[in-house]
Amino acid sequence: MTVVAGVDLGGTAINYTLLDQQERFLIDGLCEHPALSKQGPEVCLQQIADGLKIACERAGVGMANVVTVGLDTPGPASAAGLLSAQGSTNFVHADWAGFDIRGGLAHKLGKPVSYLNDANAAALWGHYAIFGADSRHTSISIIIGTGNGGGIILDGNVVKGKNGFGGELGHVLIPYQSIAGTSGINPLCNCGRTGDLESLCSLTAIERNLLPYFLPRYPGHELAKLDSHQAAKLVRGLADKGDALCKEIFRMQAHALGLFFDEMVNTFDPDALIVGGGALEASTEFQRWFINEIRLGMPAQREEQVDIPIHVIPNGDTAGARGAAIEAYKLAKDSGLL
Ligand SMILES: [Zn+2]
Repeated sequence: MTVVAGVDLGGTAINYTLLDQQERFLIDGLCEHPALSKQGPEVCLQQIADGLKIACERAGVGMANVVTVGLDTPGPASAAGLLSAQGSTNFVHADWAGFDIRGGLAHKLGKPVSYLNDANAAALWGHYAIFGADSRHTSISIIIGTGNGGGIILDGNVVKGKNGFGGELGHVLIPYQSIAGTSGINPLCNCGRTGDLESLCSLTAIERNLLPYFLPRYPGHELAKLDSHQAAKLVRGLADKGDALCKEIFRMQAHALGLFFDEMVNTFDPDALIVGGGALEASTEFQRWFINEIRLGMPAQREEQVDIPIHVIPNGDTAGARGAAIEAYKLAKDSGLL
């Protein structure tokens, strides 16, 4: 039996999955092990190796059957898995600065390792769930969470970019002034831009830009009594229940996405547009409403492109590990190991 592994290194936990030659995932749901990244590379790489052994035991396969390993981590990191020399929130230990985490893991495990950042891994999983591992299709994914991640899969391959920042779609500027009912809004992003996708379409956007803009227009609203951080987390649930203010916030996010997807349609002429993340963890009815609002937010499309589908990504919490495994599957095929 020949399998590949997917390893999703998050802030506090590592999640694993295994994928066999017939493209079947051998682990359902989460299979977690503590990450201990704060203790530096040496401890963390050992944790990854130990957890992989446990995952293999759980799936009933030997470590020797794992031919390649796909790793994904939060960025910033180069396309080859070199962590930023400036450090990052998830890799605070001094030894992580400029560390080759892909090479380090390959050395530790004695196996070839592929690398993706976590947003690109989730995008690859979303793409795979629709098209399968051998697809030559093109898709654009947006993951709406605290921030806004995403990924571009072009002819079946992740666009990583020269510096590893390919698919950083949250910081693409959009013509938000054209969204109805938003005059006077000033959507600032952490990156310094005004009016990029993340400044309008993320949990942070709700807290910093959308609640402060919309709350004064709904006097006496229950969210006005809470601090904005707490209030922001309640917006999706209230929108799902039909609250007018919260639906207006999600309508604006959907229309921002519509403008963004229009830019992507004209850039890539993709086979599919994909949305995922916490914002979509709601009722099917809400998801349908949101997708429809995205379409309403898009300028008129060419007849040939009107039917480009908008999908919701399944299995949010395992998306990273599964995407990493698919990248490992490609590496195994390209290396003649599968
Ligand atoms: Zn930005």
